[in-house]
Amino acid sequence: MSTATIYARIPSELKGKITELANSLGKQQSETLVELLNQGFLFSESQRELKETRDKLSQQESANRNLQTELEKEKAELRIAQQKLDAVERARGHLQRILNTEVGKCTVPNCGAPINLYSFAYEQCPQGHSRKIELYNEYKSAPGVADALVAGLAIFGGVALAAELLGDKKTNGIQ
Ligand SMILES: [Zn+2]
Repeated sequence: MSTATIYARIPSELKGKITELANSLGKQQSETLVELLNQGFLFSESQRELKETRDKLSQQESANRNLQTELEKEKAELRIAQQKLDAVERARGHLQRILNTEVGKCTVPNCGAPINLYSFAYEQCPQGHSRKIELYNEYKSAPGVADALVAGLAIFGGVALAAELLGDKKTNGIQ
């Protein structure tokens, strides 16, 4: 290590402290002074590093908060998608129950197959007999049930779509 000499006037109080420290360490005043200066530089270097680390941490925290926000947004979107799917499932179940309502039977001798709304709408029994349907009395007369029947038929426009959803285009009965 190359060395150089500097002369500086320092307060005598400070010189006194350096002398005191040098004596306690058993070192020369100049040696003690150089060590103190080095420690001073190390200290300011440490402070700079500490500040850099804090800045990085702060940036990282900010990035984490953004990620957290994104995550919450995605979770909310997932919840909404799930709710929509649940609604579709409920509607599908409701439609199935309506279409499975037994409203009459086939009048072909030895057939007598039950006719549900789905079959009724196609005017064909599950065995393929066309227009041989006899509605049960309660579906001919009772207003409430007739309303249900009408409502069922009204949604028949959606049956093709429903059958597609169910992957059930051919069978007459929907399970
Ligand atoms: Zn039949």
